[in-house]
Amino acid sequence: MSTERTLSIIKPDGVTRSLIGTVIERFESQSLKVVAAKLQQLTTEQAQEFYGVHKERPFYNDLVKYMTSGPVLTMVLEGENAVLQNRTIMGATNPAEAAEGTIRRDFAESIEANVVHGSDSAENAAIEIDFFFNSSEIVSY
Ligand code: ADP
Ligand code: MG
Repeated sequence: MSTERTLSIIKPDGVTRSLIGTVIERFESQSLKVVAAKLQQLTTEQAQEFYGVHKERPFYNDLVKYMTSGPVLTMVLEGENAVLQNRTIMGATNPAEAAEGTIRRDFAESIEANVVHGSDSAENAAIEIDFFFNSSEIVSY
């Protein structure tokens, strides 16, 4: 077991549907601590760069539009095996395939508007945390 950090984003559909508290409750009740948080409106350039890995995919332009359609809550989560733990709490990308009791199964409206983002590896977590936060914005407790 090792303590890790991962990047979480409550996407615009989650923020505008007032699911911030509900989503954070899922993390805190399963031993993930919020050690940084920022509510922000992403620019098109930020969303394009953040999801650059998907730029050849047919859904890329819609994804960028969706991610800039309203505010997002970007967070750093910390805990034992935080990367995998967060992905487990989130559920599969497609809510129709997400396990019972996961955030996406319970709240996602579609494969696109699926409430949350979570880093998919420790390596990407480090890159994604660095994309949104300075080290001075991340706390310990
Ligand atoms: P995840 O967020 O589970 O890591 P991906 O990295 O594959 O999933 O995709 C990034 C985001 O792009 C998804 O969370 C979702 O918002 C959107 N997306 C993924 N696949 C599709 C699709 N087939 N159609 C529309 N949007 C999609
Ligand atoms: Mg992904």
